[in-house]
Amino acid sequence: MRYIFGPIASRRFGMSLGIDLSPDKKSCNFDCIYCELEKSAERDTIENPPKVKDVISEVKDAFSRFDFDVITITANGEPTLYPYLKELVEELNGIKEDKKLLILSNSSTISKKEIREALKGIDIAKLSLDSVIPKTFKKIDRGIKNIDINDIVDGIKKFSKEFKNELILEVLVVKGINDKVEEFRELNKAIKEINPTRVDISTIDRPPAYDVQPVEYEKLVELSRELESQHIFIASRKDLSAKKESYTKSELLKTLSKRPFSDEDIKNLLDDKSKEIFEKLKRDGEIVEKSVAGVKFYAKEKK
Ligand code: SF4
Repeated sequence: MRYIFGPIASRRFGMSLGIDLSPDKKSCNFDCIYCELEKSAERDTIENPPKVKDVISEVKDAFSRFDFDVITITANGEPTLYPYLKELVEELNGIKEDKKLLILSNSSTISKKEIREALKGIDIAKLSLDSVIPKTFKKIDRGIKNIDINDIVDGIKKFSKEFKNELILEVLVVKGINDKVEEFRELNKAIKEINPTRVDISTIDRPPAYDVQPVEYEKLVELSRELESQHIFIASRKDLSAKKESYTKSELLKTLSKRPFSDEDIKNLLDDKSKEIFEKLKRDGEIVEKSVAGVKFYAKEKK
């Protein structure tokens, strides 16, 4: 298998079969300071891109061998640089059965109409948006010269209006770079206009390309409070068993009326007593469950 990897268990998306459209080398128009891949010069093309028919043949083969929930399009870098993306998405939709089609993009090309067109056939589009402040964006994502964060934000807004499926924005927080409350206040303004299905907030959890540090889980929680009325998933791999909080019934209902909690939030933020209160509220129908792009969220029932 040259273009397929996994399936890999992902807490955010379920069992994921990966497609790598650039297996030989990193192909990315960003050089993010937190990248898990090796440092490399930014490029806006994929050298020797695979033929659509070869990728499809491997995916078909994977159907007979593995069980998975989503087919994830990646490219050892940025998958929207793949020149036959629209055709690939159409072909995958023809064979995917009940699986969902997911793409992980850095958003750099979303201002292009043809890319938004190609992505219309995707079930879950996960677009990165680490900062909307030009100076911070340059520091953290280090895109090739002609990439402008204002164009990206405008492109995401357009895409959100046109796109009928699930749009997830991901903000990756790096210590000392985009971890200020002011950053998140600016992000909040943009995100409110974009109105995504879900916002994922994460930090560095694997060795990065450059000498940068993650932030603590508590910082992610603090920053997430700046984002209003969103389904927010805080991604953290750390063991958070010592940091639970105690909620009364009314505190829990008030909190969930402002911001739905994910399964992970319930596990990481509530102490045992609060979990009992949560379970009772769920049984009594005062809390409702909703699945957002594969993640369960709980909110206060609107009466
Ligand atoms: S967009 Fe992704 S692949 Fe590209 S440099 Fe950033 S983290 Fe690495």
